[in-house]
Amino acid sequence: MKIIKLTAVAAVAALCSQVAVAQERFITIGTGGQTGVYFVVGQSICRLVNRGTAEHNLKCTAPSTGGSIANINAIKAGDMDMGVAQSDWQFHAYNGTSQFEGNKFDKERAVFSVHPEPFTVIARKDAGITTFDDLFGKRVNVGNPGSGQRGTMDVVLAAMGKSTDDFALSSELKPAEQSAALGDNKVDAIIYTVGHPNGSIQEATSTVEAVLVPVTGEAIDKLVADNPFYAKAIIPGGMYAGNPDDVETFGVKATFVTSSDVPDDVVYTVVKAVFDNFDRFKGLHPAFANLKEEDMISAGLSAPLHPGAEKYYKERGWIQ
Ligand code: GLU
Repeated sequence: MKIIKLTAVAAVAALCSQVAVAQERFITIGTGGQTGVYFVVGQSICRLVNRGTAEHNLKCTAPSTGGSIANINAIKAGDMDMGVAQSDWQFHAYNGTSQFEGNKFDKERAVFSVHPEPFTVIARKDAGITTFDDLFGKRVNVGNPGSGQRGTMDVVLAAMGKSTDDFALSSELKPAEQSAALGDNKVDAIIYTVGHPNGSIQEATSTVEAVLVPVTGEAIDKLVADNPFYAKAIIPGGMYAGNPDDVETFGVKATFVTSSDVPDDVVYTVVKAVFDNFDRFKGLHPAFANLKEEDMISAGLSAPLHPGAEKYYKERGWIQ
């Protein structure tokens, strides 16, 4: 009798744990290279989401990826649920323009924006590069296909009537590899559309004498005037070794995007985890220090808001 009772209890317990496992839902957030800020955005969001797994059963992972365009394509294909993407590529994907011509992502939805990302050029001091034009004829790492900076670099070059053929060498190293390549004198300059300060530029400027190069001029002014997702930007002086002065460039915003195929309650849970714990989130990276909720729910967003995000913003009284 006693044995039967125990077996019944064990059977119920086994059933319960099966039910719990079946209810657990896994979500994946696309980030960028491990020395960038997107990786920290994704890891930080997942950390906050996973603190509440016992209540909502969502489990979040945020692997390293090739960056903005790779993330958008992975979300479109249904391989990832959410991801970080530059505001210019969020726009182009939703509108089917630029690199997304013929590959429109109607179901793309905006969740929120994060930190500003200046288009950043860093050159070895001994290469004598002080303006963007000085890059022509030099060895430049233009970045891996799929990264936001590679896409934006191609736009910048086209706006100047130039192409990667105008460099002595154009390499396609990933962000995590490019600082070492600069230090080893394999390239004269690297580019990165990225929040500041970040580990990648810290690595570059601490392994070799390297300078931030301004990105200014008529072509840049026109890009900023013609496109709502670009703005003038300043990389503050004093963030990196040997770079005491502010440097002028232009930039975008990092944004968090998803698909209308992702259920409302999933997006709601993720958004709630971030904004219910906003001070904690802001403390997870220095590039998040100046984030403000009211900017994050509108600035840099061109795709429609996902209804799950909208629901939370309405509850907080941030939108009507
Ligand atoms: N903006 C870069 C990209 O879109 C990534 C920057 C980062 O990883 O922080 O690929």
